[in-house]
Amino acid sequence: MCAGVSSTTGEDGWVDVSVPLRSGMVHWPDNPPVRIERMLDMERGDVANVSTLSLGSHTGTHMDAPLHFVRGGQGMDAMPLGATMGRARVIEIRDPTSIKPDELGHHGIARGERILFKTRNSLVAWWTQDFIEDFVYVSRGAARYLARRGVRTVGVDYLSVGGFREDGVETHRALLGAGIWVIEGLDLSRVEPGEHELICLPLKVEKGDGAPARALLRR
Ligand SMILES: [Zn+2]
Repeated sequence: MCAGVSSTTGEDGWVDVSVPLRSGMVHWPDNPPVRIERMLDMERGDVANVSTLSLGSHTGTHMDAPLHFVRGGQGMDAMPLGATMGRARVIEIRDPTSIKPDELGHHGIARGERILFKTRNSLVAWWTQDFIEDFVYVSRGAARYLARRGVRTVGVDYLSVGGFREDGVETHRALLGAGIWVIEGLDLSRVEPGEHELICLPLKVEKGDGAPARALLRR
């Protein structure tokens, strides 16, 4: 296996587009660090291996629930499974800075679509690196455009749909406030643009603002 390759292609053509969780991996700067430690360890004479997982709810490949930015919004446990299972379209973004309405206008985005954006973020195995401040994000204008279009789900290939210096709050509010479910932290490096079948299942955290998820795509 090449170092840094997170995706695996499984049976029936499914591509794993989630990133591996490991201690010390990149996370949003003000979120808690990722720690995965054996608290029972067979190498130390315990009868089994059992680990403690400690991480923020918006780490690695994960989802945002409306509750992340909307007071009284739905939590992760209220997500309709149809939000993340079924047809999804991977759109390749040319803009090296952000996703803008002008570029989206060429793609004929329709009501109810699940849209995943493949940007240059996916080319750099971001989950193996330190935090990248200038990742490609969804501009607030594009977030409002997607909300007007009535898309169902939006996925991105870095830790946040919004930017680090700008449009962090605005983009989240525009998408989550419109009832759009958000997948973040995808690895789309081995996925071609176009129509796919998506399965992405976040942990069922009661009233969770977000949760880690496993995500798969199939042509
Ligand atoms: Zn988010």
